[in-house]
Amino acid sequence: MTDTPADDLTASFRSDVTVELVKHTASDADVLFAARVSTLGEQSLEELEKEPGRSRGLINYLMRDRHGSPFEHNSMTFFVSAPIFVMREFMRHRVGWSYNEESGRYRQLEPVFYVPGADRKLVQQGRPGKYEFVEGTAEQQETVTRTMTEAYQEAYRAYQEMLAAGVAREVARAVLPVGLFSSMYATCNARSLMHFLGLRTKHELARVPSFPQREIEMVAEQMEQSWAKLMPLTYEAFNANGRVAP
Ligand SMILES: Cc1cc2nc3c(=O)[nH]c(=O)nc-3n(C[C@H](O)[C@H](O)[C@H](O)COP(=O)(O)OP(=O)(O)OC[C@H]3O[C@@H](n4cnc5c(N)ncnc54)[C@H](O)[C@@H]3O)c2cc1C
Repeated sequence: MTDTPADDLTASFRSDVTVELVKHTASDADVLFAARVSTLGEQSLEELEKEPGRSRGLINYLMRDRHGSPFEHNSMTFFVSAPIFVMREFMRHRVGWSYNEESGRYRQLEPVFYVPGADRKLVQQGRPGKYEFVEGTAEQQETVTRTMTEAYQEAYRAYQEMLAAGVAREVARAVLPVGLFSSMYATCNARSLMHFLGLRTKHELARVPSFPQREIEMVAEQMEQSWAKLMPLTYEAFNANGRVAP
């Protein structure tokens, strides 16, 4: 770690997010052995391979009747790189999640900023809690890209000026905007992930509709894809039962 500010950093702009599953012990079998201890005690592990046809039914029953704890005996760790405003929303999810995020006190923050892509709907209509978003005009798109880019560059210039003057990183960072990218590791289990997905995705199968901000939904969608491959029966039951966490 150095206290010398890097002054050769040029700003870069992203319209996507990064989500990588870096570590996991998660499978449908983890749900089954945990659930079967109710009736089989210590033999539940041995029963895993028997009557696989019943596994789908058992997982669906647990999901439908909201017996949630068997879905906690697994673990997934994701690396996430996303704007700070996404991290703020994300860390509201307190239960069944562990977080570690990069520090703006111990390292100089890099000038990577979020600018919405051409497919990001820019105009909000409707009432709070039930917004609909529609395409922006070409002029609105241009205004967003230009003003964000200019504001980000000015903010980062001010940050660097303070660092060059010897001001502490933890003080200088106050000028940086929430569109700055941050990174974290987030560890969860299938139950806490399902709760997150139920709230942070807008999905046609959801029994309780949610209206998340698009950028956290982009993170959620990538997590969902990874999880679906690890626990296909659990994923199927989640969708079949209205995407409500058990
Ligand atoms: C579309 C959308 C809009 C939002 N808008 C806002 C907003 O305008 N302002 C704002 O502040 N937040 C907002 N939020 C955040 C929201 O209020 C929740 O903080 C966030 O979704 C995390 O949900 P959670 O508390 O259920 O999750 P977790 O913290 O993971 O909790 C999981 C579950 O554990 C139980 N639980 C956890 N803590 C407690 C507790 N202290 N007491 C009792 N039960 C508990 C609850 O059953 C809870 O559902 C919004 C969220 C969404 C999805």
